[in-house]
Amino acid sequence: EFALDVERVRADFPILSQEVNGRPLVYLDNGATTQVPNPVLDAVVAHYRTDNANVHRGIHTLSERSTAKLEASREVVRAFLNAASADEVVFTSGTTASVNMVAYAWEARLAPGQCVVVSALEHHANFVPWQQACMRSGAEFFVCPLTAEGEVDLGALEARLAAGGVSLVAMAHVSNVLGTVVPVGEVVRLAHAHGAAVLVDAAQSVRHEPLDVREIGCDFLCFSGHKVLGPTGIGVLYGKGELLGQLAPSWYGGEMVAQVTAALTTFEELPLRFEPGTPNYVGALGLATALDYVEGVGRKAVAAREAALTAYAEERLRATKGVQVVGSPARRAGCVSFCVEGAHPFDIATLLDKLGVAVRSGSQCAQPLLDETLGIHKVVRVSPAFYNTREEIDAFGEALERVVRLVTPRG
Ligand code: PMP
Repeated sequence: EFALDVERVRADFPILSQEVNGRPLVYLDNGATTQVPNPVLDAVVAHYRTDNANVHRGIHTLSERSTAKLEASREVVRAFLNAASADEVVFTSGTTASVNMVAYAWEARLAPGQCVVVSALEHHANFVPWQQACMRSGAEFFVCPLTAEGEVDLGALEARLAAGGVSLVAMAHVSNVLGTVVPVGEVVRLAHAHGAAVLVDAAQSVRHEPLDVREIGCDFLCFSGHKVLGPTGIGVLYGKGELLGQLAPSWYGGEMVAQVTAALTTFEELPLRFEPGTPNYVGALGLATALDYVEGVGRKAVAAREAALTAYAEERLRATKGVQVVGSPARRAGCVSFCVEGAHPFDIATLLDKLGVAVRSGSQCAQPLLDETLGIHKVVRVSPAFYNTREEIDAFGEALERVVRLVTPRG
């Protein structure tokens, strides 16, 4: 299960081989962002060094090279998602931008009597845009509750769908706090049976779960490049061609228009109509190189190793006195969150950093989950990636034991 030539992989990530506060860095904050391997860095630098020019404009050689790479990158993303057509792949600046783009466009379909459903485990990026669109349009905003284990309560979802008026269900594929894997295929089946469209927030699932949009059956799917070894500032919005083609653009500008007169503007076909302005073509080629890299290591191998490391981290946490693991979903991917009795998560993360261990602490952009559902407000999150080692999880576990001893008053 830990099979994968990790030494070879780590050689591609020089950032991992450094000391922080006099200790070997143990980077376990991959849920926030992943590190970028040399082939991606090289592709980005090479493009700026030899091929850089704006895309789709003019027909000079460098512009043609840039355009060809952008479109080749789109094809790489299409294949990664098994989308039917590259026209269904829109480049955005990240998950947040992708969700907002759909939410703004979808707002035209919302009215009092209609409803958008999200779940109680959403990241703010897939919560607030829908809440605001509902507030502006007068539609209902329904937050589907969770079970005690931290799963989306599919019974409650089905009941709300059956009550009628649901226009769209927006849901995370994997929770960035609980690690819960949401059965999105089942969510799609239920939603479609009641005439609702489905948007999947795949920000956290992109490294862990198969993302075959035709198998999942979702109408929209969003993810960020920086959580799958790509650069920051690039992301993807997948939309089923038929549906995406019916939506009005949310943003306007150059590149996305066909004809502009003082009286009227007509728009380009998909996907350009959703890509106003100069696209992040260097980010796109960086992302494509990252996806190629993941395919090279093997998507199954990456997912299996991350699952094994996460399970091992959970096991260590559960064995540490004074530590409470948050949630116990049937399937967990990518992260484990925890609290230490009597200690603030910021203090735990700060002390771990002193020992070279990088973890996330805070509300993880999921206040509805942490404040309203769980009532624990802040947690510490550990999120391994495939380039981490079992020894690093041990180092984290030992560092945490030291920290817990430090913050626990002696009785
Ligand atoms: N959804 C989830 C589940 C996430 O974990 C994140 C990133 N933490 C986002 C959305 C937002 O992604 P980005 O900040 O890259 O737009």
